[in-house]
Order: sequence, then C-alpha cells, then structure tokens
Amino acid sequence: MASNKKGMNLREDLTCAICCDLFRDPVMLGCMHHFCKRCISTYWRNIQGPVTCPQCRQEFPTRQFQTNYLVAGLVDKVRASSSDGYVKNVEKQLKESLEYHHSKREDYINMIRKDKEQVDTLKKMSVELQERIQADFQALHSFLQEEEASVLEQLRREQEEWERELQRHLEDLNGALQEVEQNVGTLQQAVDTKDATVLVEFQDCNSRSTVQVTKGPDFNSQVFSSKYASPTQYTTWRKMFQVLKPGPAQVTFDEDTAHPSLLLSRDKTTVVELPEMQPYRLHPKRFVQCVNVLGAQSFASGRHYWEVAVGGKPKWDLGVALETVDRQTRVKLCPENGYWTLRLREGDQYSAGTQPWTRLRLAVRPRRIGVLLDCEERRVAFYDADDMTLLHSFSDGPRGKALPFVSTCVTEPGQRPQPLRFIHLPVEYL
Ligand SMILES: [Zn+2]
Ligand SMILES: [Zn+2]
Repeated sequence: MASNKKGMNLREDLTCAICCDLFRDPVMLGCMHHFCKRCISTYWRNIQGPVTCPQCRQEFPTRQFQTNYLVAGLVDKVRASSSDGYVKNVEKQLKESLEYHHSKREDYINMIRKDKEQVDTLKKMSVELQERIQADFQALHSFLQEEEASVLEQLRREQEEWERELQRHLEDLNGALQEVEQNVGTLQQAVDTKDATVLVEFQDCNSRSTVQVTKGPDFNSQVFSSKYASPTQYTTWRKMFQVLKPGPAQVTFDEDTAHPSLLLSRDKTTVVELPEMQPYRLHPKRFVQCVNVLGAQSFASGRHYWEVAVGGKPKWDLGVALETVDRQTRVKLCPENGYWTLRLREGDQYSAGTQPWTRLRLAVRPRRIGVLLDCEERRVAFYDADDMTLLHSFSDGPRGKALPFVSTCVTEPGQRPQPLRFIHLPVEYL
C-alpha cells in the first residue's frame, strides 16, 4: 500500500499543472516549477512584457527555462510503468506471488492440522498408557496387599493357637498346684495333730501320683520365628510371577523339529549346533535344510512372553514361526514366509527379519532377548530382556498357530559353536 501511494505521489509530482498530464519535454522555470516545454511556451505566447509562473505567479523579465533531464528520465519511467506490457508483467508477477502465498497458506494449514492431530494422538495414547500402567501396578499392589494380609493372618492364627494351648496348659497346672497345695495343707495339719483319720483319707498320697498334668504344648520359638523370619520378600517375589500378564511362558524345544545337526539338552531348553549330523528319525516336522528348531508350545490366542539367552554368540535368528512353515526348503526368514525374527550376524549386525532386512542400530549387545507374541493384536515384539528396551516390533504378526523359533545358524569355520537357551523364569519354584 505504502509503495502504491508513493507511486501516486510521484505521478502527481510529474504532472504538468497546465495540461494535467505527465510532463512532455519538462522544463524548469527560475521558481523551480516544472511544465511541459510546449505548455509553458503556449501559455506565454500572447503575453507582452514580463511573464509569470502559472503556478506561483513569480514574474520573470525574460522567457527563460531549463530542460530538466532528470525529471524527463523519471517521466519516461513512470510512463513506461503504465504501459500494457509492464502492467501485464506486474500482473503476472502478482498472480505468481499470490499463488505462492496460497500454496504456502495451504502448507501451513496442513502443518498446523498435522501438529494438532499429533497432539491429540499423543494425549489419547498417554491416557491409554496411563490406564494400562495404573492397571498393571494395581494388579501388583492388590497382589502384594493380599499377600501381606494373608501372611499376617496366618501369623495371627498361629499365635492364637499357641496361646490357647499354652493357656490351657497353664490352667491345668494352676489347678494341679491348687490341689497339691490343698493336700499339703491337709497333710501338714494331720502331721501336726497326728489325726489318724486324715492319714486314712490320704493313704494314697504317698504314691505321689494323685495330681497328674498332661505334658505342655511343645512350642519351639526358633521354629516359629524362622517360619516368619524367612525371606518373605523373596517368597513373595517368586509368587508375583503368577500375576504377571503375560506370565513368562515355559517354552521348550520340540526335538522332532530340530535339524539333524542340532543337539538339545535333556530338559529341551538348550540347543547347540554339532559339527556333524546326528542319526535322526525322519519326521515331517523336521527342518532338513536349515539349522532351525521350533518350540514345543504353540500359541493361537492370548499374549505370550519368553526369553532366549543368546550370550555372546555372534550369529543367530530367533523369534516366532507359523506352524505351517516349509521345513523342506530353504526360505528367507520374513513374515511373508511365516517368520517374524530378529537376526544377528558378525557379532554386532542386528536386523529385523523384514523384506528387505531392517538394520537395527543397538547401543548395547543384548545377552537375553525377550520375545512377546500378542495373538490378539497380531504383534511380535523383541526386547533387550535386561532393561526391556524395545528392539523391534512387527505389527503384521501371525494369523493362526505360531511357535517359538530359533536358528543357531551355521558356525563359521574355526569358531566354537555356542548354545542358545530358553530362560525359565522362576515359575518353576511355585
Ligand atoms: Zn503540459
Ligand atoms: Zn513557479
């Protein structure tokens, strides 16, 4: 707007007061006023003697004016700026600028919408997570409160029982004491008075078995105290695994699925690759191409979690496989082929088994991998089991029966085969 106004003023300043148009061959009088050369000449033509400036009426003895090239140049510029080509060009530039600003406005509106959506998502997600965390902790709190109440109740009952028994025995003893004291009195009296009748009455007193009290309760304070002074927290902690959701799954290997080069421990929790193939039973479930083995437990619903100890083994694949995977041929481990896996190569190159691989940059080398299979949300997630850092999560998890999967991979020449092991969290103590 400001520049527009400035343009208007300039045009006014460059307008001849006689013809009211832009100057043509502008000339300047001694009073510094400008006119078209022709206009001022015509204006003065019929005047006799001294002439005046049409604007300020200053008198000039002679008809003199100066050509002003500077003003002439400005007039040319202003005239050119109102030409058709110039106007069109300016219009084009304005249109382009308008379009640019329109698109910028659109961009900013979209960005604002996106930001607002993100804020909404964040808020909604936080509320959900808050509820989940609260529910998780509530379950643990309730469990602990119930456990505490139950242990205290047991202690109270046991204390009462002992007290009752000891009290009963005490009463028996008091009764017996009273009886004995009575006898003592009577006997003493008889002795003192030499009363023969009393002696007859107390003939049996000499047997010393008149008053009998049963043996008292065998309260052993050490046994009692050690029962409750045992590491209660430890016992409770082990029991807490019962309320974990999902609780740690007790997975083992299915020997019938193991490649003939794999050796399983007797408890089927550990697998190691052998340098030579072992004699094996033909089985349709067995992997014959790759050094793979499946878990003996299959899952089709619910949420399940287990851990695999990988130690310092430099090469492995592990995760979840569909029950229907092909055991006879060599296939790429990816969801399309029924595998949801995490893989390690060269000791530090971690990838998620996607198509193509998704390289993972891990800050530390996990010694234990936690595998979460959520059949309801069709999610397979991998964690560093030491601090539960999420390593990778598949959102297109298995549909149908799925099993734990482990591949030892073929050991590089000159390297010692190292085992992989399913960790059994302390559920076995329960
Ligand atoms: Zn003029
Ligand atoms: Zn003048």
